[in-house]
Amino acid sequence: MKKLIITAALVGSLPTKEQNQYVPISPDELAEDALACYKAGASVVHVHARTPDGKNTHDAAIFKEIHDKIKAKAPELIVQISTGGRAGVEFEDRSKGLWFNPEMASLTTSSCNFATSIYANAPDVVEKLATMMIEKDIKPELEIFDTSMILAAKDLKKKGLLKEPMYFNFIMGLKGAQEADVAQLAHLINMLPEGSEWNISGVGKNQIVTTMLGIALGGHVRVGLEDNIFYSKGVPASNAMLVERVARLAKEFGREIATPDEAREILGLK
Ligand code: MG
Repeated sequence: MKKLIITAALVGSLPTKEQNQYVPISPDELAEDALACYKAGASVVHVHARTPDGKNTHDAAIFKEIHDKIKAKAPELIVQISTGGRAGVEFEDRSKGLWFNPEMASLTTSSCNFATSIYANAPDVVEKLATMMIEKDIKPELEIFDTSMILAAKDLKKKGLLKEPMYFNFIMGLKGAQEADVAQLAHLINMLPEGSEWNISGVGKNQIVTTMLGIALGGHVRVGLEDNIFYSKGVPASNAMLVERVARLAKEFGREIATPDEAREILGLK
């Protein structure tokens, strides 16, 4: 089996320090957490940007500060910038994190519902983001919240907007979108174009189960406070604690962990 790529999704758009004191918000806090996760076995960090008062933003200067501070602490680490829509729906906003040419960025290929809102990813916005990524040689992590998003990714590939190997991240167990369920996972894997790599991200209490499925089935694993703020029922997690747990479980399964350079090789990064 290929080596395991562990991604740490450090913060996301939703968690607050009131919910969990370990949630990193400032660029310095994010860089500290990135370093701790790297030491624990993560080769990729997925980041969102927040203003100093915690609001979501696509501010290019804040993204660049986060990126540069992480690279100063852990130069080898792969930084994956979010182009997610909770901080602004339109292309102009969502592309700001791509201006300074990060190695990777997330790309959600279609729309779905969340529990109390619509997650809008209009076809023209998705296409413009994919175009910018291919022009700048930024590797997309294709965020899959529902089955149809794989079909949308295949269409982008047909248009020449995605390169192989395509890298899919299944986000499972988020209310409003797809369930965290083994039958659903099997369906998603079966739909993938040959030669694709996949990663699994479980939301909330699903994270421990999806972690084991990813390790056992030859996928890759994302954990972190973006998706899950608890280590176990009522016990707040830190990002490093969650990565350390994946590393321990992988060892039990006999699955070796990829270094950032090994992750670059698996994902076809420049
Ligand atoms: Mg995200």
